[in-house]
Amino acid sequence: MALGKAAAEPGANPLETALTQLRLAADRLQLDEGDRQILSTCKRELTVHFPVQMDDRSTRVFTGYRVQHNLARGPAKGGIRYHPSVSLDEVRALAMWMTWKSAVVNIPYGGAKGGVIVDPKTLSRTELENLTRRYATEISIVIGPNEDIPAPDMGTDSRIMAWIMDTISMHRGYTEAGVVTGKPVSIGGTLGRMEATGRGLLYITQEAARDLDIPIESATVAVQGFGNVGAVAAWLLSRAGARVVAVSDSSGALYNGKGLDIDALWHHKRDGGSLRLSPSGDQISNEDLLTLPVDFLIPAALEGQITAQNAPRIKARAVVEGANGPTTPEADAVLAGQGVLVVPDILANAGGVIVSYFEWVQDLQFFFWEEDEVNERLHRVITRAYRDVTSFAQEEKVSLREAAMLLAVRRVVEATKVRGIYP
Ligand code: NAD
Repeated sequence: MALGKAAAEPGANPLETALTQLRLAADRLQLDEGDRQILSTCKRELTVHFPVQMDDRSTRVFTGYRVQHNLARGPAKGGIRYHPSVSLDEVRALAMWMTWKSAVVNIPYGGAKGGVIVDPKTLSRTELENLTRRYATEISIVIGPNEDIPAPDMGTDSRIMAWIMDTISMHRGYTEAGVVTGKPVSIGGTLGRMEATGRGLLYITQEAARDLDIPIESATVAVQGFGNVGAVAAWLLSRAGARVVAVSDSSGALYNGKGLDIDALWHHKRDGGSLRLSPSGDQISNEDLLTLPVDFLIPAALEGQITAQNAPRIKARAVVEGANGPTTPEADAVLAGQGVLVVPDILANAGGVIVSYFEWVQDLQFFFWEEDEVNERLHRVITRAYRDVTSFAQEEKVSLREAAMLLAVRRVVEATKVRGIYP
């Protein structure tokens, strides 16, 4: 995981992408070798192999991870992903991005991530609960409200967070609401958390639209991924007046130049339908979706989607990154050359961690807020961060990603220096 080595061959590997981004920021900030080593290494990496009893009474062993990248600015924070392609390198990269994300929006957290190598769609409800409770038990030695606070990510949701919270509470003998965020409201979740990442994308897209002089009411949008993040962003943007002309999920993509009925698609998906089979638009490929001539392209599925290969064909005026790491560093350079504004993941999709922070604060105080208050505070925090990043980018004459990284890395280095190296 050496900083220099990864920089030699940046590509779609998320860890290489994350390390390359860090190297560029470290060079510009003229960080010394010690700081570079601290930032390019994850502080704690836990790998767990654990058995789960399946419905047919057979036993399967699963592999999971919890990685804490950096704790200089506060307890570790980051989601848990259930996906067949989860790997230690991917979790490391995602943990690193969480450190920068919390720092760039200036909330008092370090970065972490977790994951289990599994396709949750292949498990029954009981198997999913058994797997979750056992994984929670395995990682219980490193998580807690003061240490490391998981949240949902791809393939996990509020129900899974409830099982984790209950498992940890059973072990500790009292209700530990603050151990995870993204919980159902009935057990200490916050109003507005489910929509938070998508709502943050809405606020960021509105800010970018203002900067690009595009009225949001006439803006066209394509969204890759129709899950927690993409579907909410598409829905809120369409309610704000934008024309969402294409959306996709793992089954394929749908296009309608007049604008898709996002409400209808949402219900269609919720009732178990696949996007590809919806009659509300024409079927196109996921690759076609990425290269549509729209004002805003929102990749909200997986990392490594916009690459050096397809970037030259991207015609969007701005890419607002809903997913973590959807654009490779090589693609970033191509997009910059084409004058495409890229609002980086660590800023654009920070709505989730910001409202997670609000949830954690409410849990620690046993004092809960109205939804309006949550949304209004989210708006304040994320638009302030957007303004910080855009003014810094103008001052330093760098891209928004570089500016966000420079701000974030500088804040983490400052915290590390102020705290000092123990002992
Ligand atoms: P999700 O599992 O709810 O949704 C993912 C969506 O992407 C699904 O609709 C899936 O079908 C689709 N998808 C998968 N492969 C695809 C492909 N090849 N092409 C098109 N669509 C594909 O996950 P999510 O929580 O919405 O997370 C999506 C991304 O956003 C991830 O990168 C995640 O790390 C990031 N993110 C999530 C949150 C959050 O609060 N959930 C916060 C910040 C960032």
